[in-house]
Amino acid sequence: MDFRIVVIGAGVVGLAIAAELSKTFSDIVVLEKNLKFGQETSSRNSEVIHSGIYYPQNSLKAKFCVEGRKLLYDYCIKNEISYKKCGKYVVATNEKENEKLDDILIRAKKNGVENAKRISLDEFKKAEPNVKACGALHFAESGIIDTFALMKSLETHSVNNNVQIVYNSEVVGVKKINNAYQITVKESDSIFNFSTEIVINASGLGAFNVSSMIGLAKPEYELFFWKGEYFSVGNGKNKFVKSLIYPVPNDEISLGIHATIDINGRLKLGPNAILTNAIDYSVDKKNKKDFYESAKRFLPFLEPEDLESDQAGIRPKLTKNRKEFRDFILKNEKDNGFENFINLIGIESPGITASLSIAEYVKNLII
Ligand SMILES: Cc1cc2nc3c(=O)[nH]c(=O)nc-3n(C[C@H](O)[C@H](O)[C@H](O)COP(=O)(O)OP(=O)(O)OC[C@H]3O[C@@H](n4cnc5c(N)ncnc54)[C@H](O)[C@@H]3O)c2cc1C
Repeated sequence: MDFRIVVIGAGVVGLAIAAELSKTFSDIVVLEKNLKFGQETSSRNSEVIHSGIYYPQNSLKAKFCVEGRKLLYDYCIKNEISYKKCGKYVVATNEKENEKLDDILIRAKKNGVENAKRISLDEFKKAEPNVKACGALHFAESGIIDTFALMKSLETHSVNNNVQIVYNSEVVGVKKINNAYQITVKESDSIFNFSTEIVINASGLGAFNVSSMIGLAKPEYELFFWKGEYFSVGNGKNKFVKSLIYPVPNDEISLGIHATIDINGRLKLGPNAILTNAIDYSVDKKNKKDFYESAKRFLPFLEPEDLESDQAGIRPKLTKNRKEFRDFILKNEKDNGFENFINLIGIESPGITASLSIAEYVKNLII
């Protein structure tokens, strides 16, 4: 056997898994098709440490978000990674939304989200004088993180524990051979094979494709790509907001266009949610009007000229229906005849927040 464990994908999840497994196992390799870690979804997102408010009770998303958040804050402190527990407000802009806030709070409490409460409008005005709302919830545990620094640290921990991380190596085939798997890798112009006992498919947008390589192209694993664009807010208006400001969400696909500050103090609006077939990270300038109108409802200080197109990311979602909730798929495919082929499919938000918790769970899936 060439390796004990192959992790496919060096995004935040693959790196968290490699770092966790390296505490117990040896002979681990991470294969990444890009030249560096985190070039895809893990560097194209809101960088928010979520509280775990919206997900159905007992779902993996709820459990990993609440557990993962705590692990992540501890990890940041221990490893000197920049983060800020800046808190988050969900704001209602009309009476109908205001009524929905109560349901959101009940769900958050059921999920074990601490320090969550409805606050009075006086309190809200003191905290965020430039934001307009007729009702607000406060979630003190939400924060922001330097995701690049998190991934760098996970990579360093893995390498220090003898994990090999091989970039520019795309997995193009996975085959079961006796009690092992043969992995076929394309590296520049060459193709080579090696064997491993355990395969962990943490390939994000490529997860359905990799699962299909072994014959697990199940309809319930099919991924739909939902692009999320961002616009940044300039003209010094980043100083008008102190916390994360979210509207009341309308559907299961996205949390609605919200305002986030990153670790460098930049204010961004987004993401929207557009179903797409292509992995294309361009931002359509024509959508500026929608962003402006959505955000102006609660950020009255905005003017159209403050908005500049910024980045885009793509959510690997298990549904194309805006109203349907689908949970993460994290599964040892033993029942399907592939023992120790571990699939991670549909790892969209809150994947960063959940990453360390997902890594612990995956470790326990290994037989
Ligand atoms: C718009 C947007 C906003 C978000 N906001 C937040 C947020 O605020 N907070 C939060 O917690 N989460 C957020 N998320 C979710 C979070 O970003 C993801 O869940 C997380 O980054 C997923 O990490 P990953 O490692 O699974 O995937 P990725 O980062 O996509 O990594 C997968 C890796 O696998 C590699 N790969 C794919 N196929 C192959 C192959 N065949 N061979 C080798 N390598 C391969 C890719 O190159 C990639 O590097 C957001 C996501 C989006 C899109």
